[in-house]
Amino acid sequence: MKDGVITMPMKKNVPEGGPAWRLVTCPVCGRECWERPGVLDVMEKNPKLMAACTECALKVTVTHRYVKA
Ligand SMILES: [Zn+2]
Repeated sequence: MKDGVITMPMKKNVPEGGPAWRLVTCPVCGRECWERPGVLDVMEKNPKLMAACTECALKVTVTHRYVKA
């Protein structure tokens, strides 16, 4: 089980994204969301973290903590 979740903004909420954001699919629900610069760095340093869209992160973080990326 993962220790925490990095949230990825959902494309439906943020259609334009931000500078250098990469469009990916949520590993939990498969919907489109944005991987922000720095997320991969954070996950490399914290192998127990996972990234998920904000909606999935909300569900997962009922038992886990949020991680700011
Ligand atoms: Zn999701």
